[in-house]
Amino acid sequence: MSRRKQVYEGKAKVLFEGPEPGTLVQYFKDDASAFNNRKRGVITGKGVLNNRISEFLMLRLAEIGIPTHFVRRLNMREQLVRQVEIIPIEVVVRNVVAGSLARNLGIAEGTPLQRSIVEYYYKNDALGDPLVSEEHITAFGWATTHDLDEIMQMSLRTNDFLSGLFLGIGLKLVDFKLEFGRLYNHNDEMRLVLADEISPDNCRLWDIKTNEKMDKDRFRQDLGRVEEAYQEVARRLGILPEGGPGDVKAPSTVQ
Ligand code: 5GP
Repeated sequence: MSRRKQVYEGKAKVLFEGPEPGTLVQYFKDDASAFNNRKRGVITGKGVLNNRISEFLMLRLAEIGIPTHFVRRLNMREQLVRQVEIIPIEVVVRNVVAGSLARNLGIAEGTPLQRSIVEYYYKNDALGDPLVSEEHITAFGWATTHDLDEIMQMSLRTNDFLSGLFLGIGLKLVDFKLEFGRLYNHNDEMRLVLADEISPDNCRLWDIKTNEKMDKDRFRQDLGRVEEAYQEVARRLGILPEGGPGDVKAPSTVQ
């Protein structure tokens, strides 16, 4: 692993050059961070579980016609993805008030939303990922209005589909964050695809019956049983690694 060329290291993932041109290997770490990196920790086995969970969800989304960067899972902690030009926007879709929406507008966490809300944040750690409008995005050339129409459509379809999928396993999809990238073919034609990952690191998932939090908020808010929450999401999706939770403790983070 260390001999491969590292292209990028983020808080929870590392990207390496892939085996063929136009591909990357996405390695999932156990490292966790919150509050713009002010809180850091390790969630043992998270990388293994998020690799599986994201694979599962990206494949289901591809089946309903949402293009993604995912190619195939390579091993416990790695997946092959298409190299894309990441659009520097985080798209957050919300179905229930929580997190920054509750904090910033003073609305009680858990308040259901009549209509899903889509928000855009400028991906910039130094600035703390500020909330931006469509006008900012187009004015600064991060994406065109046409791109944004497509991003909005794909985000809402993803929300509809994933809300149903999670409901089926007793989880409420409260909100989630998506990232999109530009994928170019041989003729230099571009299409937008879903990139990054979809996992309890970037989704809020509450148990339907108890409202228990089953996602990274357990780490952010020191609620305990963080590993168990990720395992439970994987278990309900039917994708716990062979051998059960014990199997997720394999290799530590890359150097
Ligand atoms: P909030 O704006 O309430 O903090 O986050 C809304 C949703 O987007 C949550 O599900 C949260 O996990 C996800 N999210 C927002 N920003 C980030 C980010 O920078 N990294 C990750 N992993 N998730 C994010």
